[in-house]
Amino acid sequence: MSAADTPEPADADVAVVGAGPAGLAAADLLGRHDVDVLVVDEQQRPGGQIYRQPPPGPGSPTASTAGLRLISAATRHPTVRWWHRTTAWGTFRTGEPAGAARLELATSGPQGSRLLRPRRLLLTAGAYDLPVPLPGWTLPGVMTAGGVQVLLKSQRILPGRRFVLAGAHPLLLVVAAQLVEAGADVAEVALAQTRMPLPTALRGLRALPGHLGKAAEGARALAVLRRARVPVRGGTVVRRADGDTDLESVTLASVNEDWTVRKGTDRVLACDTLALGYGFVPSVELALQSGCEVRWDRPAGGWTTAVGPYQRTTVPDISAAGEITGVAGAEQAVTEGRLAAVGILADLGIVNDADARRLARPLHRDLARRRRFSSFISTAFAPDDTALAALADDTTVICRCEEVTVGTVREALRENPHLRSANAVKLLTRTGMGLCQGRSCGLAVCRLIATETGQSPQDVGGFTARAPVKPVTVQDLLTPSATGPDEATAPA
Ligand SMILES: Cc1cc2nc3c(=O)[nH]c(=O)nc-3n(C[C@H](O)[C@H](O)[C@H](O)COP(=O)(O)OP(=O)(O)OC[C@H]3O[C@@H](n4cnc5c(N)ncnc54)[C@H](O)[C@@H]3O)c2cc1C
Repeated sequence: MSAADTPEPADADVAVVGAGPAGLAAADLLGRHDVDVLVVDEQQRPGGQIYRQPPPGPGSPTASTAGLRLISAATRHPTVRWWHRTTAWGTFRTGEPAGAARLELATSGPQGSRLLRPRRLLLTAGAYDLPVPLPGWTLPGVMTAGGVQVLLKSQRILPGRRFVLAGAHPLLLVVAAQLVEAGADVAEVALAQTRMPLPTALRGLRALPGHLGKAAEGARALAVLRRARVPVRGGTVVRRADGDTDLESVTLASVNEDWTVRKGTDRVLACDTLALGYGFVPSVELALQSGCEVRWDRPAGGWTTAVGPYQRTTVPDISAAGEITGVAGAEQAVTEGRLAAVGILADLGIVNDADARRLARPLHRDLARRRRFSSFISTAFAPDDTALAALADDTTVICRCEEVTVGTVREALRENPHLRSANAVKLLTRTGMGLCQGRSCGLAVCRLIATETGQSPQDVGGFTARAPVKPVTVQDLLTPSATGPDEATAPA
């Protein structure tokens, strides 16, 4: 449908960006209080990354029971509307004075190009796989572990025949087991970690109660891999991917405890798909573009959206919940989504402060327990940034959109010693100026500058985010329409 056809109303008391665990949990609680909510999500169906569903049609659902329960609870409320296949690409302010200006959210999807005017905005945009440049990573056949899983879950497609999975995140084991069960040949799972230090392991044991389900998921994946005789090797990294036009082999090597490669340990393994899984990056681009403060938190994925009580961001009418505030797992995202909803109910005057506190109490208790576990996982499996930066050589492409190599960035830094920030390097080299607006290269460029200049990633900073934060057509930029008393304004 185009914006010219009778469009659905674009006004809502609350707009939620993201129908993953956090967005679903928030929409459910808001719906139970009859709040007028509009949820927008790029995917075809609700569920987010973990509860991703195949397109409607025959076949069993791929979301777990917990996921299906959450989806069905959130989607039963008459006051909650869902815009799928819809991208939120920017927020704007119209009206005077500037501080009190009305919030607008620009979206693009089957409803056309629309300007929503919600009273409150909740960002639950989640996270995506951490891209790790290494020689050959742009060859067809090199993917992220999450990308492989997306094809399996949403399309039931095996993107290759013989797989190597490499990285440092426990998701690799889950994806490897899913591949085996789908009939793939998994040649090896290579994990960079050597051994878990004893204090970390003890911390893990203390955080485990209440999270046995996650441990069981890992144990189940390991059992599947053992039965299929898939080697799972610790202390191993992938150094390069090779092939003429497509991936044909990878070179693996043993590493020391600090992930430095041990000389003379290279071995070549034939495969047509390499799945890299070094962890996740919070999708902060919309929060950044909206003026929300972000904070550097490496174990939680890098730049995270800063939140205070009730998940409120530093921008008064915007809240954030789930992995956009730090990578911490689906269960914590659910609790944060509910907490954000309680704050919004209070902001809208639907519950009073005392009731909000009462509703929030069990959520805070739950969050404290979940944070113990998520902080153990993220610390135990945090990638070593210096070692990751060392995987690339000068010829490795770091910014895929603008085809900028590591060597170009290094040369720019050498010739311009005053260049210290990611934004300065962006202006000189065009890294981060392409279609993905730095989602793919942002952290890698930050890591490289930090390593080359001896600064912390926090000092290097991220790229400035500007609308559109996601690719949209020129037509969408020119014709956003809104319902309501005010004239639609074109933000670009
Ligand atoms: C690829 C991938 C695979 C994963 N697989 C597993 C797994 O197997 N097991 C496990 O335990 N955990 C897995 N995780 C982690 C798990 O998905 C998260 O812990 C959990 O889903 C976080 O929930 P969330 O609500 O914060 O965000 P998400 O589930 O990521 O949901 C965010 C939603 O926001 C939407 N969105 C983002 N930006 C926009 C925008 N601008 N406009 C419109 N919509 C937008 C996305 O389409 C997405 O549906 C995976 C993560 C990823 C990235």
